[in-house]
Amino acid sequence: MTTASQSERYLEGKVAVVTGASRGIGRAIAERLAARGAKVACVATTADRASETARNCSGLTEGAAAYGVDVSSSAAVATLVDQIQKELGGLDILVNNAGITKDQLLLRMSEEDFDRVIEVNLKGTWNFMKSSARALMKSKGRVVNIGSVVGLTGNAGQANYAASKAGVVGLTKSMAKELAGRGVCVNCIAPGYIATDMTSAIDPKAAEALKTEIPLGRIGEPDDIARTVEFLVGPGGDYVTGQTLVVDGGLTL
Ligand code: NDP
Repeated sequence: MTTASQSERYLEGKVAVVTGASRGIGRAIAERLAARGAKVACVATTADRASETARNCSGLTEGAAAYGVDVSSSAAVATLVDQIQKELGGLDILVNNAGITKDQLLLRMSEEDFDRVIEVNLKGTWNFMKSSARALMKSKGRVVNIGSVVGLTGNAGQANYAASKAGVVGLTKSMAKELAGRGVCVNCIAPGYIATDMTSAIDPKAAEALKTEIPLGRIGEPDDIARTVEFLVGPGGDYVTGQTLVVDGGLTL
């Protein structure tokens, strides 16, 4: 990715937190926001795992750092959000991107796998929103939650994941209504099929077949999602809140 010119650094002076920033979509988002001049807190399960993204971001912006937390732990998230604010000087943008799958047909899905996916994908999003809300009200900030088209359509073998992502849509709308009066915009992006570690286990033949179902004729790249985040947290998103923006090449049309 090329470095943005000075005029394109419209996030200069802003502090962004991106969860799931070690790889895939989260890494692309962190690097995009850094290229726009934001200071970026790159969060993964451990700081070590997020360190390469933080290094890449450091080449694009003045403040970038790696942090580790299990997003499903509300106490640990609260401590981390305080630490980030102290170290980076505030909080203006929150991107809840960390997520997992534990796919299985309902009759074979364990209660443990159901609970874990909800804890990480849905409660993890709520944890960061709850701990960041005061700071975001102060900064009139922006939140982008990463959902999934599966949260809108459902998917066989993904009851836990689809429920978690549908929950993210409801959470987004509720938070948008609650925080609008304080000048905070909260939106959701529902990606379609994006080439990352999460989708790499899909059989190549099945992936090829899926491609034929995508009207735009290609599988999505992490940067397709990052560029949509960049829009929502930038001036283009000033009057957008409570929305779920589907970014899937037309897959769900
Ligand atoms: P990856 O599997 O490539 O990356 C997942 C990221 O989440 C990693 O950074 C991982 O950190 C982090 N993470 C996982 N569990 C936790 C946890 N408990 N605490 C903190 N961080 C955690 O995923 P993608 O980039 O593909 O997906 C990113 C988001 O986009 C997810 O929410 C996913 O559901 C969603 N999405 C993805 C689609 C796709 O086709 N790829 C389609 C639709 C939605 P670590 O490296 O430390 O494990």
